[in-house]
Amino acid sequence: MSQKLAAVKGMNDLLPEEIGIWQHVEAAAREIFSRYGYAEVRTPVLEDTSLFERSVGEATDIVGKEMYTFHDKAGRSVSLRPEGTAPAVRAYVEHAVAQKEPLTRWYYIGPMFRYERMKTGRYRQFHQIGVEAFGAKEPAQDVEVMEMVVHFLNALELSGVALHLNSLGDEACRPEHQKRLVAYLSAHREELCPDCQTRLERNPLRVLDCKNESCRAIAQGAPKVQDSLCEACRQHLAEVRRRLDLLGVRYELDPSMVRGLDYYTRTAFEFVADDPALGTASAVGGGGRYDRLVRELGGPDVPAVGVALGLDRICLLLGAAGKRFGVRPDLFVAFVDVQAQDEAMRLSSALRRAGLRVELDTRGGSLKSQMKRADKSGARFALVLGEKELADRAGELRPMAGGEPRRVAFSELSAVLRRA
Ligand code: ATP
Ligand code: MG
Repeated sequence: MSQKLAAVKGMNDLLPEEIGIWQHVEAAAREIFSRYGYAEVRTPVLEDTSLFERSVGEATDIVGKEMYTFHDKAGRSVSLRPEGTAPAVRAYVEHAVAQKEPLTRWYYIGPMFRYERMKTGRYRQFHQIGVEAFGAKEPAQDVEVMEMVVHFLNALELSGVALHLNSLGDEACRPEHQKRLVAYLSAHREELCPDCQTRLERNPLRVLDCKNESCRAIAQGAPKVQDSLCEACRQHLAEVRRRLDLLGVRYELDPSMVRGLDYYTRTAFEFVADDPALGTASAVGGGGRYDRLVRELGGPDVPAVGVALGLDRICLLLGAAGKRFGVRPDLFVAFVDVQAQDEAMRLSSALRRAGLRVELDTRGGSLKSQMKRADKSGARFALVLGEKELADRAGELRPMAGGEPRRVAFSELSAVLRRA
């Protein structure tokens, strides 16, 4: 007995009826990011496990619970990438990019893997569009990245996505904040979920990111990083805010927002959608500054800032807004017999070479079934070839949406379709 085959749980097929939205979003990202000087980088989906342990952090949910980790045939521990920043930094360091240019702007698009509890907008293979800017410590760089994402979301006509901004401090002021946080959380230890009790020992900041109701309530009252920021971090945040205002980028200060990865310093931000289509998975993206990460992964002392956007969630939002982005054929060519099929194929080939989208039914069949197929294809026009059309080298170009057919010579078809 053969067992029914199905995709691995949490991993989705993207069928052609949905792919239009995905291609539209990816094309918008490529177009807009390139206007800001960002170039695409592609890194492998598999990396040494230690890369993520050292960057994302062993005490994070991502590395602690969600990673697809296994041993390859040589016994190395490898992991499917759960995010794109660590691999980008690894590549940046490995190829000594810092020695070739002082300022590097990269973006990536691709699948990420996390073994999570699935629901709407939360999958085990999901996709991110991410951006990394290496080399600038200036607040202007943080602002460039945030403004670029806002531009991108506007281009997709996604309103209702709010930018939440916070500062997480740096090595100068975070220890002080951590001390105050631990004192506060320890006083509420019993009310925390078991996970957070462990987090309290290993990585107290993570407690603020817990989705559990009672932990969230406690997090609400926790000391805010902003009250412990050192002068340099305070100035950085003030300058980020000034420049966001300058560019007319709206944001909300969100002092309780921390990110789910350990490497952020100073600026942290999230894009949050207010749309029931996402259920509880309302974050469409997040990012921030990671000034120490390049050095921690063996590179030079290069500051960086980046963002990762959830492509699946963005496509869900666009789908829910009723947006459709398929490509439709310009012309469907039907034919009555084998001779007409020869001409149909020749004509189609010539029109495709001229840049038009042309379909025909390679199986032949009755005219009725071919026209049914034409209807389904969404073609703008149909042309039926028979003995007379072959003799005249002309045919009736029929608009599929209704209206009068018009007689067009084969030699004119390309020009007429282009204008129509
Ligand atoms: P969340 O709070 O929803 O778990 P996150 O903070 O873990 O998100 P990041 O690591 O910041 O997510 O990744 C950036 C973006 O990638 C998220 O804002 C989200 O849009 C998307 N994303 C993260 N995990 C998933 C997932 N399992 N399925 C689909 N999209 C995801
Ligand atoms: Mg998460």
